[in-house]
Amino acid sequence: MPFALHKGSIRLAGLYLAIIMSISIFFSVTIYSLSINELGRGLRGPRSVIVRPVGPGFSEEIKNDILRERSVLYTEAKERVLARLIVINIFILIGGGALSYYLAVRTLKPIEEAHEAQNRFTADASHELRTPITAMLTENEVTLMDPKLSLQDAKRQLASNIEELQRLSALSDGLMRIAGLENRTLQKMDVSLQDIIDNAIHSIQTVASAKFIDIDKHPKKSNVTVHGDSFSLQEVFTILLDNAVKYSNKNTKISVNIQKHQNEVTVDVVDRGMGIPAKDVPYIFDRFYRADSSRTHQSVQGHGLGLSIAKDIITKHGGTISVKSTPKKGSVFSVRLPLVKD
Ligand code: ADP
Repeated sequence: MPFALHKGSIRLAGLYLAIIMSISIFFSVTIYSLSINELGRGLRGPRSVIVRPVGPGFSEEIKNDILRERSVLYTEAKERVLARLIVINIFILIGGGALSYYLAVRTLKPIEEAHEAQNRFTADASHELRTPITAMLTENEVTLMDPKLSLQDAKRQLASNIEELQRLSALSDGLMRIAGLENRTLQKMDVSLQDIIDNAIHSIQTVASAKFIDIDKHPKKSNVTVHGDSFSLQEVFTILLDNAVKYSNKNTKISVNIQKHQNEVTVDVVDRGMGIPAKDVPYIFDRFYRADSSRTHQSVQGHGLGLSIAKDIITKHGGTISVKSTPKKGSVFSVRLPLVKD
């Protein structure tokens, strides 16, 4: 546990304990004064109470003895009540202390987890930013120091810089999107899933055509309405289709299958690409995670943010996203969304 959070837990535990102890002391004082009152009435009643039943024949000495005895009993009982209340309060202090600390740690646990996730995210993001910046810096310095630098070399260097800058720009877009998803609520309304998927296919058509990849949709026309933010949902299908294109070879096919069930709709994005090794499957929806196979593919660019953004969006729509994949055969990404009741 980080030091600040440990300090926070102790402070919160102190606060809980102060509340428990104030209640306990309040009740102890009340119990004590009530008991003393009752004892007083029983053991230190007015003199007449003792004197009257004993009658005038009773010697003054005996009367005084009884009164003294009662006074001693009263003092002893008072001390016993006080001692018991003190013992009970010590137990409450020890038990309450342990309970308060346990409750404080539990209260702060989600905050600690969010804090750790934030730290991890910042570290990963800085790493992703630093790598291309360092590479660009070194390349530029080496190029500048070359006394025989030709115009062609300079142009090559500029082209390489532009490529890196495009990657950085894509990364900053992804980071901004994540921040936006965390801080903004989605604008949900009843939207046609058909339109959303058609727009996503349209937006990816140029990259797909460049690799001679066909995108099929089944059925061609469907009448499915979901309650959601159309911009974000379109982004999800664009991410899935963009990945399907990125991780497929030329001249292959991608299919989008829409299946309407009673309460939900399933959209499968099927590709015949490189697939995902089983060891990577559990992590591909994590931020910044990229399977080794795609890292080593120089032509396939990315920062491992797309699927985590897609998952965030689908989760915020009450749906799920999952994958089934066979290396070298292809992948099926399935999105399930609740249907709007007619
Ligand atoms: P990026 O594609 O930018 O690396 P994503 O979050 O979209 O990031 O995907 C994470 C990883 O999941 C990718 O790096 C890749 O290894 C794997 N992946 C995603 N989609 C596919 C796909 N259709 N086929 C094969 N691998 C995929």
